[in-house]
Amino acid sequence: MKCIVQGCPGGMESRRIVHTFVRNGKPIVVEDLPAWVCPVCGYTLLDLVVLDTLFALDPDTASPVGQAPVFRLSLPQTA
Ligand SMILES: [Zn+2]
Repeated sequence: MKCIVQGCPGGMESRRIVHTFVRNGKPIVVEDLPAWVCPVCGYTLLDLVVLDTLFALDPDTASPVGQAPVFRLSLPQTA
């Protein structure tokens, strides 16, 4: 499958990724998520069934398979 980003010559590769998102102010980490990734521009695409399952995930009732440390970087002010 060719990358859908205009002008990108890459082809999407089937990969397992770690996806992080925030729900109710809390970071949620999902590992081993099947995805299509372009190795050239990094564009990531999820299959609809994966996306649906991801949206249906309720972090408050689902059992986590692990815990991840959460960090916040101290960066110099740029603005
Ligand atoms: Zn690309």
